[in-house]
Amino acid sequence: MSRTTVSQRAAQFLRDHRHYGAYCDKCIAKELRLGAGKNRTMARNVTSVLAEMDEFRRGPGICCKCGEHRLVTHGRLSGSRRSESE
Ligand SMILES: [Zn+2]
Repeated sequence: MSRTTVSQRAAQFLRDHRHYGAYCDKCIAKELRLGAGKNRTMARNVTSVLAEMDEFRRGPGICCKCGEHRLVTHGRLSGSRRSESE
């Protein structure tokens, strides 16, 4: 499985779920069925790649899935809102 493909899947997942909120690496890994161990490291790589894209934001926050406060990634809502500093 190439890293690009996983990144694309993660990007698509976050696009599809962005109205739910932000997801932590662990939950993204789970949703993408990356499993644990070294694949979890891969998930972190993936979200790092996403963070460099204009479309996604990454930072400390509450994961909408597990409810834990950690580093999370979410897609920007295009159009309607532009509040960057919430
Ligand atoms: Zn989570």
